[in-house]
Order: sequence, then structure tokens, then C-alpha cells
Amino acid sequence: MAARPQPYLDDLNPAQKAAVLALDGPVLMLAGAGTGKTKALTARIVHLLMQGKARPNEILAVTFTNKAAREMKDRVGRMLGQAAEGMPWMGTFHSISVKILRRHAELVGLKSNFTILDTDDQLRLLKQLIVAANIDEKRWPARMLAGLIDHWKNRAWTPDKVPSSEASGYNNRGTELYAAYQDRLKTLNACDFGDLLLHCVTIFQAHADVLQQYQRWFRYILVDEYQDTNVAQYLWLRLLAQAHRNICCVGDDDQSIYGWRGAEVGNILRFEKDFPGAEVIRLEQNYRSTAHILAAASGVIAGNANRLGKTLWTAGDPGEKVRLIGHWDGEEEARWIGEEIEGLRSGSHHLAKNRLNLRSMNLHQELSGLARSGFGRPTRREFIKYAFESGRAYIDRRVEKLIRWLLSKDSNSTAKYQSVLDSPLDRFNCEEMAILVRASHQMRAFEDRFLTIGLPYRVIGGPRFYERLEIRDAMAYFRLAVSPDDDLAFERVINTPKRGLGEKAQQDLQRLARGAGVSLLDGAREAVARGAIGGKGGGQLRQFVEAADRWHKATLEVDYDHIRLAETILDESGYTEMWQNDKTPEAPGRLENLKELVKALENFDNLQGFLEHVSLIMENETEDSQPKVSIMTLHAAKGLEFPVVFLPGWEDGLFPSQRSMDESGLKGLEEERRLAYVGITRAEELCTISYASNRPIYGRWQSQFRSRFVDELPPEHVDDLTPPSIFGGGYGAAGMFGAMEARVAKADVYNSPGWKRMEARAGSRPVSQPRESRASVIDATAVSAFVEGDRVFHQKFGYGSVIGMEGDKLEIDFAQAGVKRVLASFVVDADE
Ligand code: ATP
Ligand code: MG
Repeated sequence: MAARPQPYLDDLNPAQKAAVLALDGPVLMLAGAGTGKTKALTARIVHLLMQGKARPNEILAVTFTNKAAREMKDRVGRMLGQAAEGMPWMGTFHSISVKILRRHAELVGLKSNFTILDTDDQLRLLKQLIVAANIDEKRWPARMLAGLIDHWKNRAWTPDKVPSSEASGYNNRGTELYAAYQDRLKTLNACDFGDLLLHCVTIFQAHADVLQQYQRWFRYILVDEYQDTNVAQYLWLRLLAQAHRNICCVGDDDQSIYGWRGAEVGNILRFEKDFPGAEVIRLEQNYRSTAHILAAASGVIAGNANRLGKTLWTAGDPGEKVRLIGHWDGEEEARWIGEEIEGLRSGSHHLAKNRLNLRSMNLHQELSGLARSGFGRPTRREFIKYAFESGRAYIDRRVEKLIRWLLSKDSNSTAKYQSVLDSPLDRFNCEEMAILVRASHQMRAFEDRFLTIGLPYRVIGGPRFYERLEIRDAMAYFRLAVSPDDDLAFERVINTPKRGLGEKAQQDLQRLARGAGVSLLDGAREAVARGAIGGKGGGQLRQFVEAADRWHKATLEVDYDHIRLAETILDESGYTEMWQNDKTPEAPGRLENLKELVKALENFDNLQGFLEHVSLIMENETEDSQPKVSIMTLHAAKGLEFPVVFLPGWEDGLFPSQRSMDESGLKGLEEERRLAYVGITRAEELCTISYASNRPIYGRWQSQFRSRFVDELPPEHVDDLTPPSIFGGGYGAAGMFGAMEARVAKADVYNSPGWKRMEARAGSRPVSQPRESRASVIDATAVSAFVEGDRVFHQKFGYGSVIGMEGDKLEIDFAQAGVKRVLASFVVDADE
């Protein structure tokens, strides 16, 4: 049989080709961002099929998100073209596990139609068990137990396998409740998310025949984003691959960002032990980003000590330097980014005009050439064929993206296709731009801004800000204050937080209100007057009605302070407190979101105006096909790429997160740094990092230090756009200390609207102070033993002297490296 043509190999470099051609035996592809790991993995699937090594259902490809799986399916489908007969198993660990589990559910005591519980159901169930075990749920919340169980499941520990050293959590009763929970799930014919994998592993371990069946079945296994697998996932893979050992894992230790969810980078190192003789392939050429972007990313990640270490280079243009800009506050940051995007989109931005000088010049020429040379109106198939067979480095990337975009919207539109072909490439499409944030509460400012200026956007990998649970709850309270007849709002909040007004009491209220033809709140007032609701609930209902009346009355006053009122409502209702008492990992984020909500009110005159604004947002929600700017978290952006990337909020305490900074040791901080690396390496042509000097933290305005990661950016690859008028000289030695002094000295700054607003909010001058006074204020509680003037030694930066301090951080003037801020624990007294 004549060998089939292999166009999918032509545009791979030799190392990638080696990874594709080494079909048998274990292969580990370990390489930095944008080196074409995913591309090679995809080509490998096609190659397996084209060479007749495996039928589609004999291939198992695991990706990290459903979105990634979909994209891989698209790519494989396109590369195969007509040749496709069925598709390989492609999906996430979870989606594939569900399929397997449905077939063998009885082996773990379930029926094949088991239900998968969502978090709410799971919590409800845990609560019942906690109550039954006579544990005070207030002190030992269900969410805490849920977190613990999840942690155990990630490590593939069934209740009897939790090691005693790990069993002390949840007041020493965790494992007992875990066992009870698993029993209960079985009776309900249900499982939770973590069970999907755990049950599969249990089945594989206990039933050799079943395991062998799947081992025979999945003759070739491929795993993307391998650095983020947890122990349970690792066991799952190892069991399936043990017999034939045809497993190919690709990953990048520098992009391991799920340690907090139990992922273990160590799995990469274990791979070579568990699969001896594994072929390790390293890719070094980056095809995604311009040289400046790549150098900036490499500079930052070099700050991590725990790395396998690798080289990365690009043959591409230097392109634009990474842009850095400091803003007054988060709102200004959002405004600025909105304007930038508008400029890039319309082609009026000078960088958009330069775009032909950037990497896409090649594509533009290629496309025009294509049109001239008889492909004037190519069919989709012709074009795809051309794109994949042309073998030119740049064309694959862009054209593929263009095609993906076209195909996803309108499958038969040659005209549309032609119009893209004809459109000048001196502007960026919204689809080509993304904003990647560290914490989801950052999204609100962008969403509001983009709505105001009518910029289409989508939030990826999570609800949009105003759809979040805590935001909807809080808004329901505001609605009730503004319009007491809003029964839906009443229903939403009457028993959140718990007021002892369960379903029965609520039904009584409904009946009463309906009977009397009044609103639920009026009904409740009546019920209170009549003493119709007894017990604890009755008293609480009275309080609730009184509070609701007070809030409503407040809204009727002319010029009422709606921000104060909003805070009061969240306070008096016990809603904020509910989340403060919540010990789960999500609770701090929810509290942040609530602060962010109150902050959003600043842009409106009263609650009513704000509520209208939000209903308009919600109405705008329908998905249409127009290109949109993506807003997502850095975590969700893994594996993706965009020509234009904005990375806002690079401030200590936000990014790196406060939690990672408070932790002893460097683990958390190194994970944050990897996240920074992931962020920068998403950008192809233009990467902009920004920070704000002021942000409300826990409701009070605070001066922010710009992120330590900013100082780690290699200056020669950075273009600092920070206006010196406000920040007293930007990037470089002066840093934020200098910037703050300059600001305090500038009387005119106090007259700026931003400052006024801050003052009004904080009730006093904001906390920004000259360095001396800051240091002395903080000195009282300082954890470091250093004083100004001390001579110190730092492993990386050498000798220097302390010129300032804050908490556990020192500002040091290093003889060689200049002024840096470092953790006190990282330096030793040079005179000792
Ligand atoms: P990440 O670590 O971020 O997941 P990755 O290593 O998986 O990155 P890919 O997403 O596969 O990298 O590739 C990055 C970009 O480079 C893609 O646009 C891809 O099409 C392009 N690319 C990869 N290899 C080549 C090549 N040999 N020639 C031309 N373009 C390539
Ligand atoms: Mg990838």
C-alpha cells in the first residue's frame, strides 16, 4: 500500500517530528510555553490514525478543559479531512471517567444511571451528616469538610486509606464523616466530582479483568498539560498505560498552576521512574510570541528556584516591548484598557498601524498572494488544504485561527471568508484580544467599562460578575430596599442567611400574601402582627421586616448615601457575616466580590440607577456571533494564545496573592510566579502589564505596592508608559516608594476627582504616607530584625544596605543590582 501523504508532518520542526514519530513506548515531551506541544500531540493522533497504527476508539487523549478537547477534536478532524472514521476518545479526566464509570457502576455499588451531585447538593448532604453526628455546624462548616474530602479524593484515598497523619482534620472526625458520606452517596445512587476518578481507580485496582479490557482498548494514550495532574489522575493513567506503555505526556513544569488543587509537579519526575526507558523530548523553539515577550516571560520565571530548567528561543521578530503602565486606580486601569482595545480594533492605535510590520506581515502577503494566484474564491476545503500543506511556519498559526474562527460562525460563507481575506490587517479583531486577571473580582471593572463603551466581551470559564451567587443575593437585598413589592427578591433573601424560615414558613407566608392580595413583605408584616409564625423564625421575621422597612425608608430620602446604605444592608442582614463565618476556600473571594459590588455603586447616584444598569447588562447577555474580547482568569487561560494580551492588577497582595505572600516558604510564591509566566506567554504580539496605585481592600482604600513580579521583568524588554506626573518617575530604581513620595508632595493630586472620591469613601486622607512614617508605623509590628543602614547579603543580589522596610519586606540598595525589595528572610546580616 502506498504511504499516505503526511502534510501534518511538514510544518513540524525535527524535535516535534520525533515526538510524533515515536509512536511506541513511553514519551515525555517537556517543553516551555508556545513550543508546539499541543500541536505535536495533535499531529501524533493524526499520525497514529493515518499510519493505521490504531483505530480511532483505540486512542485516548486527555486534555485539561472541555474547551481544549473541543479544539483538539476540531484540529484532528480538519487534518484528517475525509479520512476520518469516528473520533478518538478525547476529553478531560472527568468526562472520560464518567463514560467508564457508567459501564461498571455496579462494581462500586452504584447503578449505571447514577447522578453527579453539584456543589450545592454535596453541601446539603454533608450538612445533614454533620447534624446527625452532633457536630456544631457553625464551628465546623460543611464546606470545610467538603474541602477536606476533595483533598483526600485528589490523592486517591478512600476513607479506609487516609493515612493517620492526614486524618486529624475537621476535629479528628473527618474520616468518619467521609465514610458516612460515601455510604450515603451509594444509597442515593450518586457520586460527586472527585468520585468519578476515584471510583475508576478503585475499579481498576480491584478488577484485573476490567482493567485489562481498557488497557487493550486504549492502546495509545496521550496527555496534555501533564504538569497539572494530581495523584488520582496519575494513578488512573498509570494503571491504564502499564501494559502497553504507549503513553505520551506533554507538559511544562513552569506552567504548573494547580498545586492548590492537589496537582503534583513531581509526577513529571516520577514518569521516568514508572516508565523506564521513556524517550524524553525537549522542544526549545517558541512559535507563539515575539522575542521581547518571550524574554520578559523567561526573565520572570528565572526567579523560581525549583525548576527543571530549559531553553527557549524564537526566530520571530523582536516585536513590541512588553508595555508596563501604572494607573491611579482600578477604574482608570479599566478605562485605559478599554481605550487601547478600541484603538487597536479600529486601526487608529499606532501599534495597530504598525501591525504590518509585526509578524502578521507575512500572513497578509500570503493571503493576498493566495487570492491572486487562482485561489481567488477558494472553497473551504481548498484553503484548509493549502494552509496545512504550505508548510510555512507562520501561515499555519494564523490561517488556522482564521479558519477556526470562520468555520465556527458560518460554515458556508465564502463571502465572509473573502471579506476577512480582503480586510486590512492593520487592526485587531476583538477575538484576538484578551484580558487575563488574577482574581475574578477584578473582572467587574472591565465588564462595567466595556458595557458603557459598547465593547463586546465575554467572560470565559465562570459566570460573569453579576451572575455570581453572592452578587445576585446582594442585589436581591438592594432590590427589596428599592421596591419592597419585589417578591422574587424577597424569596431569594428571606432565608439567606438562615433565619429559621424554612420551606413551611415560606409557604405560609405565600398563602397569606396571596389571600390578602399583597406583596410578600406586606404579608410578612401581617404575619408578624398576627403572630402567625411561631418559634425562632417568628422573631427573626419581625427583625427582617423592620430592617427592610428601614432600608426602604432610607432610599426615599433625597440624596441619600447609597453606598453607606448598601453596606448597611449587607451588614444588618447578616449577609456579609454569613460569608465571614464561612471557612471554605471560596469565601474570601465572595467577600471580595461583595466589596467590589459596593465599589461599583460609586459610579451611580443611587441604588435605583445602579439596579437599572445591571438589568441592562443582564439583558445584553445573549450569545451572538460577533467577535468579542475575552475576559478570564489566568488559570483559565492555560494553553490558549491571543495576539493581544492585557495583564492588569500586578500589585503585591493581588498578584502575587496575599495568601501566597503570607505563607512561610516559597511554594505559594513560586506558583504565583508560574502563573505570571503563563500569563505573559499567552501573548503573541502585544503584551501589556498594568497596576493600580490605589485599590479598595476590604472596603478601605489602600495604596498598593506594584507587584514584585514587575520588578523582575528584565528592563531591556519593557517599555514603561507610566505617566511621571502622577507617579513620580516610573519603572526603575525609584519604584513605588519614590512614586508615593512624589505623589504626596504633589498638592494638585489632592484635587483630582479620583483622590476626592477616595477621601469621601475612606473618611480621611488615604493611607499613603512618605516612606519614613510608613516605616515607623509598621516598625512596631515588623517581623524583621533589620534596621535602616544595616549591611546585608542576598544570595542572588549580593551585598547591599537596608534603606527601607515594610513588614517582612526590606528595601535594599544593592551594590551591584541597585534598589530592590526582597523578603527579609532572604537576606543575612553581612556584619555577623
Ligand atoms: P502551551 O505551553 O502554552 O500549551 P504549546 O507548547 O502547547 O503551548 P502550541 O499551542 O501547540 O504550544 O503552539 C503554539 C503556537 O505555535 C500555535 O499557534 C502553533 O500553531 C504554533 N506552532 C507550533 N509549532 C509550530 C511549527 N513547527 N511551525 C509553525 N508554527 C508552529
Ligand atoms: Mg499547549
